[in-house]
Amino acid sequence: MGWKRRTVCEAGDRLIRVLMVGLPAAWTPGIRGRRPGPGFVNAHSGSPMDELQRRITGCRRCPRLVAWRERVAREKRAAFRDDEYWGRPVPSFGDPRARVLVVGLAPAAHGANRTGRMFTGDRSGDWLYRALHRAGFASRPTSEHRGDGLRLTDVLVTAAVRCAPPANKPTPTERDACAPWLDAELDLLERVRVVVALGSFAWSQTLRILGSRGHPLPTPRPRFGHGAEVALGSDLTLVGSYHPSQQNTFTGRLTEEMFDSVWRRARELAG
Ligand code: SF4
Repeated sequence: MGWKRRTVCEAGDRLIRVLMVGLPAAWTPGIRGRRPGPGFVNAHSGSPMDELQRRITGCRRCPRLVAWRERVAREKRAAFRDDEYWGRPVPSFGDPRARVLVVGLAPAAHGANRTGRMFTGDRSGDWLYRALHRAGFASRPTSEHRGDGLRLTDVLVTAAVRCAPPANKPTPTERDACAPWLDAELDLLERVRVVVALGSFAWSQTLRILGSRGHPLPTPRPRFGHGAEVALGSDLTLVGSYHPSQQNTFTGRLTEEMFDSVWRRARELAG
């Protein structure tokens, strides 16, 4: 089991989070009756993971992000004017029995906020799925849309924040509001041995959440870097990777070889 059991002292604080996450989607205005389409996690319909993802896609906790994701979906980018944008929180994608969890920052406005699948529809996703395919985690090197047949094995792709934020910058309040979703996901991911954080935002947020779950965090708090590693107990390791953003890949800050080394290491650590 990769996740620490909680102490009694943490129970009160966590109960509040569980109650927040546990609100049925039907309580949330505007999403009554919606069910996710195909292409979320490879989970059986009705499984706890499937149910969690369904609830996530109905979340409207952050007014600024709700307004932004829906505005982008209405106005669209000219190149995608014929697409029906997703415009909702983006569920995780991949294998619910994964030993490797990938944490990104947040969906891109015209990427995952358009396609409804994590890291799908933009250049960052092209990099990520190509690398996962080379490492043997993805059934194909491209992720085009929710019905393209792509399947991940032993990897689940998630994000610290589920809604596209303006300028890719969630506020601390929005970051904290979204934390219970990742926390609830971790409750269900019993086999995870490695968490790969894509970028410093995901790194810090993952450490924050794992610390709140009782994992021993080194002092001072480990700094993010490409290839940085933190052992969080005997059976869980956090690995840092530069985010495959265009800013990083166009400038050569992140090369394909550098990215491949992260996935090789993740596989090694997963055992
Ligand atoms: S960012 Fe997270 S908490 Fe905020 S509305 Fe989206 S899913 Fe809900």
